[in-house]
Amino acid sequence: MKASAGGYARAESVRHALDLLAGSDGQGRVLAGGQSLVAAMNMRLSVGDLLVDISKISELSGIAVEGDTLRIGALTRHAQVGTDPQVQAHAPLLKDAVAHIAHAAIRNRGTIGGALAHADPAAEFPACTLALGATMHAEGPDGSRSIAVEDFFEEVFTTALNEDEILTGITLPIAEAGEMQILEEVARRSGDYALVGLCLAKRAAGHRVALFSVGPKPVLAMGAMAALDAGDLDAAVDALSAEIDPPSDTQASAAYRRHLGGVLLRRAVARLKGDAA
Ligand SMILES: Cc1cc2nc3c(=O)[nH]c(=O)nc-3n(C[C@H](O)[C@H](O)[C@H](O)COP(=O)(O)OP(=O)(O)OC[C@H]3O[C@@H](n4cnc5c(N)ncnc54)[C@H](O)[C@@H]3O)c2cc1C
Repeated sequence: MKASAGGYARAESVRHALDLLAGSDGQGRVLAGGQSLVAAMNMRLSVGDLLVDISKISELSGIAVEGDTLRIGALTRHAQVGTDPQVQAHAPLLKDAVAHIAHAAIRNRGTIGGALAHADPAAEFPACTLALGATMHAEGPDGSRSIAVEDFFEEVFTTALNEDEILTGITLPIAEAGEMQILEEVARRSGDYALVGLCLAKRAAGHRVALFSVGPKPVLAMGAMAALDAGDLDAAVDALSAEIDPPSDTQASAAYRRHLGGVLLRRAVARLKGDAA
C-alpha cells in the first residue's frame, strides 16, 4: 500500500512552518526525518492533506551547552546525537541509546524531535529524556512554551504538543560530577524495538529510573527509585514490578516483560557498582 495523495510544502523557518500548519485546517503533518511518518502514511495510519517539511530549517538543528543545561535541537539526527562529544560528556545515556535505535540508515535520517513527538512507547529517547528530567520546548501560533518531560508523554503516539505546534528542541541538566547513566534493554535482534528497556541515572540527589516498552508511554518508576535511594534492590524490583503494566503481544507476554523489567534493573545496578552484568 502507498500513502494517499496530498500536498507538500517545504518550510523555510519555524514561523513559516507554523503558518503552513495554521492554514491547513488541521490537516498539516510535520515531516522531519520521515522514518516513522512515511511508514505510517504508507500504511494509511496517518493521513493529512499537507506535509509540512521542516527538515531544512537549520535553526532547529544542533547541540550546545548553555550554562548548566545541554540543548539539543529537534532536527538533530540520531547519528549526530550518538557521536557528539558534548552528548558523550553531559548526557551519555542518549549516546548509548542511539546504538540501540534501528539501523544506520534510519539513524542517519531520523531526528530526536521526531522520535519524541512520535512518542512510540517502545522507543529509547522518550524514556531517556524522562530519566534525565528533560524539558521540551515548543513553538506555536501564540509563541513558545516549555513542557516538563513528566507532562509531555500522554498516551501511545500522543504527546502534550498541540496540532499547530512544533517541537523545537529539548534541554537537559548536564551530568553532575560522578553521575552515572545506564541503559539496558532486551530486543530479539540487534536494531529491533526493545521488548523492554530501562534507563537509570544516579545523581547526588538520588536515582531516576525510566522504562520503555512496558505500557502506553514511558514510565518513571517512582517506587523503585525510592527503594534504590534506600539501598534496597529487592524492594526496588518488587516496586518496579507493581508500577508497570506491560502489554502481551506476539513478541512477549506481559509476565515475561514484567520479569525482564526486574532483570534489567538488577543489571543496571550491578553496572553502577562496577560489577559485571
Ligand atoms: C525499521 C525501523 C526501525 C526503527 N527502530 C527504532 C528503534 O529501535 N528505536 C526507536 O526509538 N526508533 C526506531 N525507529 C523510529 C526512528 O527512530 C524514527 O526516526 C523516529 O521515530 C522518528 O523520527 P523522524 O525524524 O524520522 O520523524 P518523522 O517520521 O518525520 O515524524 C514522526 C512523527 O513526529 C512528528 N514530528 C516530527 N518532528 C516534529 C517536530 N519537530 N515537532 C512536532 N512534530 C514532529 C511528525 O508529524 C510525525 O507525526 C525505527 C524506524 C524504522 C523505520
